[in-house]
Amino acid sequence: MKRAGFSLIEVLLTILIIGILGGMVTAKIYYSKLSAEKEACKSTGAALNAQIEFYRAQEGMWPNSMNDLLYAQQSHVKYVEQLPTCPFGDTFSFNTTSHRVNYHVH
Ligand SMILES: [Zn+2]
Repeated sequence: MKRAGFSLIEVLLTILIIGILGGMVTAKIYYSKLSAEKEACKSTGAALNAQIEFYRAQEGMWPNSMNDLLYAQQSHVKYVEQLPTCPFGDTFSFNTTSHRVNYHVH
């Protein structure tokens, strides 16, 4: 005689498979978000480097710190409206030897 419906094993296997698939989708979304945030961090650093170069071209000298980009003492120009933080909440520091932003390692 044939029974109607699903056995307990069939139901448990279905729940397990749905759980595995759900975990895979969640992991994929998490790593996509992480990758996008890393790229945003890198491009923010590159934008700051461009402003440092612009400062050098306009002011005739390198900025001494990131704060010089906020307000250039000689020309009274603001090269950035505010000092940005990266998507991970870290601030950008400035290397006075290389005249470049120190990139983050995430
Ligand atoms: Zn960062």
